[in-house]
Amino acid sequence: MTLGAKPHHPPRCCVVGGGPAGIMLALLLARAGISVVILEKHGDFLRDFRGDTVHPSTLQILKELDLLKQFELLPQRRESHLSGLVAGREQPVVDFRGLRPFDYLALVPQWDFLNLLADAGRRYEAFDLRMRHKATGLIQAGGRVAGVHVESPTGAYELRADLVVACDGRRSTIRDAAGLKAKDYGAPMDVLWFRVPRSASDPQGTFGIVNGGHLMVLLNRNDYWQTAFVVPKGSDATLRAQPIDGLREAVGRLAPFLSDRKDSIESWDKVSTLTVQVDRLERWHKPGLLLIGDAAHAMSPIGGVGINLAIQDAVATANALALPLREGRALDEALLASVQRRREMPVHVVQRVQLAIQNRVISRALEEGGRPPRIPWLLRMLLKSRIVRNRPARLFGYGIRQEHVRTPEFTA
Ligand SMILES: Cc1cc2nc3c(=O)[nH]c(=O)nc-3n(C[C@H](O)[C@H](O)[C@H](O)COP(=O)(O)OP(=O)(O)OC[C@H]3O[C@@H](n4cnc5c(N)ncnc54)[C@H](O)[C@@H]3O)c2cc1C
Repeated sequence: MTLGAKPHHPPRCCVVGGGPAGIMLALLLARAGISVVILEKHGDFLRDFRGDTVHPSTLQILKELDLLKQFELLPQRRESHLSGLVAGREQPVVDFRGLRPFDYLALVPQWDFLNLLADAGRRYEAFDLRMRHKATGLIQAGGRVAGVHVESPTGAYELRADLVVACDGRRSTIRDAAGLKAKDYGAPMDVLWFRVPRSASDPQGTFGIVNGGHLMVLLNRNDYWQTAFVVPKGSDATLRAQPIDGLREAVGRLAPFLSDRKDSIESWDKVSTLTVQVDRLERWHKPGLLLIGDAAHAMSPIGGVGINLAIQDAVATANALALPLREGRALDEALLASVQRRREMPVHVVQRVQLAIQNRVISRALEEGGRPPRIPWLLRMLLKSRIVRNRPARLFGYGIRQEHVRTPEFTA
């Protein structure tokens, strides 16, 4: 039954959330000839301070979908290696050089990336992207999830589908509605995001700076630095109660070349907070429902893997489910469980590495009145080798159990 919305045939699949996981999954399903409705609560993808790091695993998927050339036309920067400035001393840490087939990571505004995927999806009749349509709850029938309740600018309606896939991010409405609980692994930090203009004399590249109990990452977006200033968990409200000058001074101390522009951080309104969360669902599915991407596992920002794991989940989901969906077969829960089995291990391994870095490196770097941080000499020696620096690039950039597009393009 629909109220206030145009009548439609129930799609085979309803995807909730038009982030990287949702749009990629919908594109793959529609490309395979499966009717799919994507519900996205916002009116566009233009939200700042979302992930920009498109790693080789995602570049590979774009290549397999014949979208790489279009992707390369988007405004972007390629980084072949990443360094840390530790107490004023440059330390190369991550190196993509020598890796194949992609020896770089691309920094691309997420809205451009999502628009590219959405435009590719719109080429297929089976792809129905509904912006400003918000899922508010689940429809249950016969002991399974049978669709979602939707609010839209033209009214509320019910959308029934054979399968609902929740890709609605780390604060998933669908996860709550399904009564699924994520195990929280904790994080010692939150991240303040803001922009600082770049000048021609600034250093190139993308790098982190650690000094005096502070940690900041500068992402080069050509005409400005997208700046991630790491603060102890839960300190956001206290910081915001103080004048913005404290943040400006800290930025100037950490990166003296920004001192002349630190006042461009006009007020706290220009600063967004990312509450860092690392969690994972124990069960990613229920009859008629699957959760992937951040809705199933929120990642720490370390390594910039969130988008890329969401994309890998989407590809694995399409690989497992496209054929049964296409053939109109019943989707039993064992099939949905196979997606979790495939994706849980790679997510688990990356989260373990992130937790180790959070607890051993970031917590110490944030210690109050922190002494100048030092990298142990053995690690410094090891990091002289590119092969050693390739290892984090391979783990975060290519991931474990890399997915490939196995779903064919359906031609009528
Ligand atoms: C500030 C910030 C910086 C980040 N930086 C990076 C980075 O540099 N690199 C990286 O890889 N990752 C980064 N991440 C993480 C990354 O953005 C996520 O891991 C990734 O986007 C997850 O993709 P997703 O599709 O699972 O969920 P999301 O991207 O969160 O997408 C969920 C979508 O669902 C929509 N939605 C939510 N609820 C509903 C509903 N009820 N009905 C309809 N639509 C709904 C939302 O509007 C959103 O568009 C960052 C995250 C934040 C917040």
